[in-house]
Amino acid sequence: MKNQSPYKILLYYKYVHIDDHETYAKIHLKFCESLGVKGRILIAEEGINGTLSGTTEQANAYIYAMRMDPRFTDMTFKIDDAEEHVFKKLYVRPKKEIVTMNLEKDLDPNHITGKRLKPAEFLEAMKDDNVIIVDVRNDYEYDIGHFRNAIRPDVKNFKQFPEWARKNKDMLKDKKILAYCTGGVRCEKFSGYLVREGFTDVNQLKGGIIAYSKHPETKGSMFEGKCYVFDERIAVDVNFAEGTKVVGKCFHCGEPSDRYVNCANLSCHTQFLCCEKCDEKTLRSCSKECEEVIRNYQIQSTD
Ligand SMILES: [Zn+2]
Ligand SMILES: [Zn+2]
Repeated sequence: MKNQSPYKILLYYKYVHIDDHETYAKIHLKFCESLGVKGRILIAEEGINGTLSGTTEQANAYIYAMRMDPRFTDMTFKIDDAEEHVFKKLYVRPKKEIVTMNLEKDLDPNHITGKRLKPAEFLEAMKDDNVIIVDVRNDYEYDIGHFRNAIRPDVKNFKQFPEWARKNKDMLKDKKILAYCTGGVRCEKFSGYLVREGFTDVNQLKGGIIAYSKHPETKGSMFEGKCYVFDERIAVDVNFAEGTKVVGKCFHCGEPSDRYVNCANLSCHTQFLCCEKCDEKTLRSCSKECEEVIRNYQIQSTD
C-alpha cells in the first residue's frame, strides 16, 4: 500500500450564484478556522475559488462539508500530497469576482464559455499545427514553465487579456484556439470572453495544468518546465511522461534556473529567477541599486 501523506493541498473553484456572498465569506472563514485549514479562498456572487492545505483529516472534512451544500456538490477538487502546511495563514475574502477581469459587461461561464477539452483531447489538439495555444496566466508563471509552442501573451495581469485579444484579433481568428491556465478558473472566463467576441473555435483545458499533469493518459506530456503555484512550494513538477526540463533563465546571467527568489531589499521584494551563484554574488538582489541597499544594511548591522 502507498504511504499516506500527512497533509493534503486542495485546489478548486466553481462558478455558481452565491447569495449575500459577504455573509457567506464570514461563515466560511469561521468554518475553515474551526477545521484548522490554511490557504486563500475568494468568494464572490459568481462563485468560489480556493486553494488550501490541511491534514488529510481536515482536508477530507472540508470536502465532505462542501459536498453537503447543494451549490458545491459537484465541485471538482484537485488534491495534492504534502508533508506540511503550504500556507502560513488563512484568508477568506469576499470579492467582486473570483478572478478579476473587470469587464464592462460581466460574463457567466455557465452560460458562455469555450469548449472544455479533457486532458487527452487537449493533448491531441495540441499536436495539430494549425492551432494557437494561449497561456492564460501571468508572465512570471509562463517563464518557469508552459506548454511547448504556447504563446506568452504580453500582459502584466489577467485584467489585460481582453485588450490583448482585441489587439491580436488577426492572429487568433480562423484558428483553433487552445487556452489553458493552472486549474481552469481563468480560462472559463477568458474563453467565454473570446466566444462573446465572435471567435468561433475556442477551447479550454478542463481542470487546467494540474488536472492534465495528474491524468494517467497525459501525465503532463508536452509541458516544459514547472507549474507556478500560489503557495510556499512556488512551483511543482508537471511532466511525468517526459520529465521536467528547466526552461527558466537566471535574470542575471541567463543560465537555466527555475529558482524564484524575492529581492532581499525588503522595500523592493521583486520576485525573479536567480541561480545559486548569482544569488550569492548579488546578495539576492534584483539590481545594482538593491544590492547597494543590502550592502549598506549589512555594514550598519555589523557596526
Ligand atoms: Zn545566474
Ligand atoms: Zn530589488
